[in-house]
Amino acid sequence: MINDTAKILSEGFDIDQSVVEYVLKHQEIVESKFFKEIDSLKEFNQYKVIEGMQRAKLNSTHFSWTTGYGYDDVGREKVEEVYSNIFRTEDALVRPTIASGTHAINLVLSGILFPGDELVYITGAPYDTLQKVIGSKGGMKGTLMDYGVKYKELELTEGKKIDLKRIPEFVSSDTKMVALQRSTGYSDRNAFTVEELAEAMAVVKSINPDIICMVDNCYGEFMEITEPSEHGADIMAGSLIKNPGGGLALTGGYIVGTSELIEYVANRATAPGIGKECGLTFGMTRNVLQGLFLAPHIVTESLKGSLLLASIYESLGFKTVPKLGDKRSDIIQGIEFRSEERLVKFCQGIQSASPVDSYFAPIPGEMPGYESEVIMAAGAFVQGSSIELSADGPVREPFYAYYQGGLTYEHCKLGIMKSLNNLYVNNLVELD
Ligand SMILES: *Cc1c(COP(=O)(O)O)cnc(C)c1O
Repeated sequence: MINDTAKILSEGFDIDQSVVEYVLKHQEIVESKFFKEIDSLKEFNQYKVIEGMQRAKLNSTHFSWTTGYGYDDVGREKVEEVYSNIFRTEDALVRPTIASGTHAINLVLSGILFPGDELVYITGAPYDTLQKVIGSKGGMKGTLMDYGVKYKELELTEGKKIDLKRIPEFVSSDTKMVALQRSTGYSDRNAFTVEELAEAMAVVKSINPDIICMVDNCYGEFMEITEPSEHGADIMAGSLIKNPGGGLALTGGYIVGTSELIEYVANRATAPGIGKECGLTFGMTRNVLQGLFLAPHIVTESLKGSLLLASIYESLGFKTVPKLGDKRSDIIQGIEFRSEERLVKFCQGIQSASPVDSYFAPIPGEMPGYESEVIMAAGAFVQGSSIELSADGPVREPFYAYYQGGLTYEHCKLGIMKSLNNLYVNNLVELD
């Protein structure tokens, strides 16, 4: 390492020399083993995104916007066309007025499911916030179950895979929708690969091809060269302050799928009879598209960070999910810290590497929609953006930290050094 870099790490960031060396040793390992393949994933998806923009004939007039009802907002229409080109779907709904990933998925569920319809999650219990949307947990008002939607959940196998054999016990030809969550959520399983999702959706379709397959695609975008929508998902949703927003989208969610289903969802998002024709973009079209343009690059920067982190903590003897060599389908790296103190110090270390709010230390607290107290480290330019370097974890046994994001690999590396340093100087880990 050149002297100037060593100097800024120790003097500017107060990182112990042995921590720096430890991280650099692991950087060499992951670089030689994995980075070439990651770079070819990045290259393919970059071309896929540009091709989607060119095919939509994107031009600079699409960056202007309207007021009031937002009729004839050509930019908004272009964003949606570009999304459906890239995700290979008939239509899309991409809006800054979708407040979060949970909101996007709620629109899908509540737009399509009617009283008496059956929803089956076949990837085990869904993400915390969605259990409240459904009504399977939390005693919220106005849940899907309040509306008379019937709900079932198929547990994963012991090996934490989709229980393909038992799908026919849970899904019948009367089931309206089957939902699959790609990313790990606050659990201890690997993300499901596109191939695994495709296999499960094929089983569902063999029961009845009319069953709607919905994929919660949060954190999965651009992690593989194809998306679940190219392998049987009828509709998919995600957040713009995760992967596809590329760090530039200030807020928003996306939904892609068949024209018919998008119409139902748009009618829920606005009103029947209005659908996709209204809705302001608040001047965000350029950011949303430029972020999408950068997303394949940024997703792989953060993926490199996740691998570096996995390599380090595996060698320190912690359980990691996924393991270093596993095939990945989301950007999340889980580490089982086995103590609250380590979880907290790790997250505080990540925060202290942030460009924004670096001098605040996060502490565990209540979060709307979440089951237990949560600690969240995020010194982000966009509040809560988890495509920016961030780490969080519910404060419950066995104290998993979920690390994700990073707009540049260098920032990931700094976060990894700062957090390891925080554990090291507090005698919470020993470097081998
Ligand atoms: C983040 C996430 C959500 C919800 O997104 P929010 O933007 O936090 O509401 C849903 N499902 C999964 C798997 C997620 O990772």
